[in-house]
Amino acid sequence: MDTGPPPSYAQVQGTTQPPPEKSGLPPAGPGMMPVPHQGLPPQQGLPPQAYAQQPVAVQQPVAVQQPVAVQQQIYVQQPVMFGPHSMQVMCGYCHQTVQTTAESNLKSSAILLATLLCLVGGILCCWIPCVMDSSYETTHRCPACKATLGIYNA
Ligand SMILES: [Zn+2]
Repeated sequence: MDTGPPPSYAQVQGTTQPPPEKSGLPPAGPGMMPVPHQGLPPQQGLPPQAYAQQPVAVQQPVAVQQPVAVQQQIYVQQPVMFGPHSMQVMCGYCHQTVQTTAESNLKSSAILLATLLCLVGGILCCWIPCVMDSSYETTHRCPACKATLGIYNA
């Protein structure tokens, strides 16, 4: 029987064209499909919910960072009333609880007033501003960083 040549000729044409097409589809199919399925093996019945839950978990850490920034602003604002004497405060520059150094100095306005009185009333009146408590101001400085923390006006 001549069953040898005809089948072999048909198989040659069939094996020549199909191989490139079949070899290209099978790898592409299994390669692309398993990727989306691998993420949903445990929850095969509810694929859409698995994607919806992921973005929710990412937004939570972002919301936690916001209150942290608000606390820092409140932490800096500390109204401190400085008095005529040294006092214990928290330095806003070196962030240390220190005992301020109170320095009493004659106000520049008092010096100007004394100069005017000296010109108008003579040497007998120029000393008046120097004995007035309101002519002095107390400057509070940080002993650690030497920063001026506040000024107390009598
Ligand atoms: Zn300081």
